[in-house]
Amino acid sequence: MLIAGNWKMYKGPAQTAEFCLGLREAELDQVDVVVCPPFVSLAVAVQLLAGTEIAVAAQNVHWEKEGAYTGEISTSMLWELGVYGAIVGHSERRQHFGETDENVAKRAKAALDAGLFVIACVGETEEQRESGQTQDVLRRQLSALEADDNLVVAYEPVWAIGTGNTATPEIAQEAHAFVKTLLDVPVLYGGSVKPDNAEELLDQPDVDGALVGGASLDLDSFTTICRLAIPS
Ligand code: PEP
Repeated sequence: MLIAGNWKMYKGPAQTAEFCLGLREAELDQVDVVVCPPFVSLAVAVQLLAGTEIAVAAQNVHWEKEGAYTGEISTSMLWELGVYGAIVGHSERRQHFGETDENVAKRAKAALDAGLFVIACVGETEEQRESGQTQDVLRRQLSALEADDNLVVAYEPVWAIGTGNTATPEIAQEAHAFVKTLLDVPVLYGGSVKPDNAEELLDQPDVDGALVGGASLDLDSFTTICRLAIPS
């Protein structure tokens, strides 16, 4: 089981330091945990989580090694900081910053080629689900990706992200099983995962962990979700 916390545009270096010091104390050795702070907070997170099993990943990464790409960060820059991996293709990147299946795939490939771990996000909008297009959307988004030992997919239905409308365990299970018919990699569920719904989602046979947004910003709720992922 892997629990990843996507902090989005929250927590600068000072708040990151405070959170990581708390996380160190939480003794989460029996579950794989990754935190994904904003770029400016990666260095402090790497420093303060050194010597623990908790990994630090970025929220995006560019496919070129360097160049005239204002606002972007390369794989070698993440390596230099000791960052373990990156999220790619988050729906907020697709929605607000025009990221496409093609450039998400380029980001994923460059990161994997550089030896980084990748969480690639896929998921349908509410409109796409209501018009019966969920499988077509997942097929299209996944067709750009290739299986790799360092790749996991996060199934994040867009209608569930930040809305409190968590997918039912049955919806998540069905989508995860479908994803695995297309790409043989672990699949995390993301979309309003909270301490009170994590257990039933994580219990589904094809749910291999969670990508947690809002609830990963609070130390107690994040560590509670991490503990729920420990096999009993
Ligand atoms: C996310 O940002 O990936 C996410 C799933 O957010 P939330 O848990 O807040 O819905």
